[in-house]
Amino acid sequence: EKLVSGLSKTRDNMSNKIDNILSMYKKVDEELFEDLEEVLVTADVGVNTTMELIDRLRERVKSEKVNDPNDVKELLKDEIKLLMNESIADNSLNIEPSPAVVLVVGVNGVGKTTTIGKLANSFKNSGKKVLIAAGDTFRAAAIEQLEEWSNRAGVDIIAHSEGADPAAVIYDGIHAAKARKTDILICDTAGRLHNKSNLMNELNKIFRVLEREYENATREILLVLDATTGQNAINQAKIFKEAANITGVALTKLDGTAKGGVVIALQAELGLPVKLIGVGEGMDDLQPFKTDEFVDAIFN
Ligand code: GDP
Repeated sequence: EKLVSGLSKTRDNMSNKIDNILSMYKKVDEELFEDLEEVLVTADVGVNTTMELIDRLRERVKSEKVNDPNDVKELLKDEIKLLMNESIADNSLNIEPSPAVVLVVGVNGVGKTTTIGKLANSFKNSGKKVLIAAGDTFRAAAIEQLEEWSNRAGVDIIAHSEGADPAAVIYDGIHAAKARKTDILICDTAGRLHNKSNLMNELNKIFRVLEREYENATREILLVLDATTGQNAINQAKIFKEAANITGVALTKLDGTAKGGVVIALQAELGLPVKLIGVGEGMDDLQPFKTDEFVDAIFN
């Protein structure tokens, strides 16, 4: 229900617009496909993914001899599910077996701290022993905010002071996790993107520590993106994909935006599994992502 209500703006932007277009046509023709194409592109589905979807839709309409525009929406919905599921078979977090590390990356302001807090809370509620490492040492405020979230979630945190070496924080986090028999270590990282080689150097240093100190831990490299930024989120995803072996995306702020179509582009075009979606600011507003459920919610 939270999913359906949270996605209302995206649904208005896609489903309702599609209904309006289909109601204007008496038969299925090329102009109809072009109108649908425009709706998808403006809903941030991305040009390439939109082209692919429309091509596949055209084929389906032809092979199934569909003449009634009212039947097109169900086919489009089906093709979106197929395309997304073909690209990504599994949207679950890599956290089994224990011990696991969830390394959280992303630009400042996208909701990284909030996502870590919500995630720590949900892991803890599922019976896991959780530890947070405050690896974003660039801003004192980031460390303080993360400490607040860890208090709220009731999980331990390892933090150094502002300006400390992020890799050293992660190192301490790993050793504390081992000593305390932690199931899941969640590591924050700094989100500066002004310079790609800086980002890569910093992340590589952290990866080397993980490799050396926690080689056998299950790993999730989670990229946090802000859905309200639309194509900007897609560009960030491209940069981080080059800088690190991203294994999943947490897409925040889907509740306030009409740009939910970015989910389709992330999976179908970039091959990045969306694993979590943020649909509000509260502790329980981070949900596991399921492709079919999402498509149903934006098309219902
Ligand atoms: P950070 O700088 O990346 O660590 O970002 P924060 O975690 O501090 O989040 C920035 C703002 O986005 C805060 O006001 C959060 O409450 C808000 N926020 C984060 N996730 C969501 C979400 O899923 N929905 C909404 N509506 N707001 C969110």
